[in-house]
Amino acid sequence: MTQNKNTILVVEDELPIRRVHAISLDMAGYKVMECDTGREGVRLAALIRPDLILLDLGLPDIDGKEVIKQVREWSQVPIIVCSARIAEEAISQALELGADDYISKPFNPDVLLARIRANLRKATAIPEVHNPELVNGCIRMNLNRHEVQLNGVKVTFTPKEYELLRYFLTHSGKMLTHRDILKSVWGNAHIDDMQYLRVYVRQLREKIERQTGGHRYIITEPGIGYRMESKGETSTDPKPATSTQGESRPAKA
Ligand code: CA
Repeated sequence: MTQNKNTILVVEDELPIRRVHAISLDMAGYKVMECDTGREGVRLAALIRPDLILLDLGLPDIDGKEVIKQVREWSQVPIIVCSARIAEEAISQALELGADDYISKPFNPDVLLARIRANLRKATAIPEVHNPELVNGCIRMNLNRHEVQLNGVKVTFTPKEYELLRYFLTHSGKMLTHRDILKSVWGNAHIDDMQYLRVYVRQLREKIERQTGGHRYIITEPGIGYRMESKGETSTDPKPATSTQGESRPAKA
């Protein structure tokens, strides 16, 4: 058993089923958050960043499929649909919208737990273990050498800037709340120090944009936080911006 408990968000409007989920997930060592409407599910997904979502389709406000659609706009968190709708159409629609798995009610709790474990494994199998480099567009961070290249040019970052950039890179494409970022980069004591974040994000942006011909990587999500746009593993920009600042040290070929 790992020390680090995975958090599972249960979106289910029927109290008895929610209770069954809560008890069996808790017994299996997961941290459980519950809600009974789709909108609250979307909100909590953004707020608590669960490791997995168990989602009912028939909800009193918005449909579970709408929840999938909205969450998938900014998150790849595993979603298991758990619903009485056994119609194949509903299953395939949910999967097409980005659900990872489907289990129909009534369900066997052991089967559900096995599905949860499998989806959590899948979600954590991808990261950086084999790859000491984090790459997004023309940003390349070498974790072993503690070195960052922007558009093929080595650029110096302060330790905090480096940590912040690393956090953005490991979560590129995901919406990150102010508190997520502050907690992960500065620690719990600074969870409300929004000013730190603004200053550092501005510094990061300046360095990145100066070196990448003004490419915007860090997007502001008003009132929520930031998102690093995922630009894939493209090679360096063919037309590097000419640097006039002392920050960067062009790697002369
Ligand atoms: Ca329902």
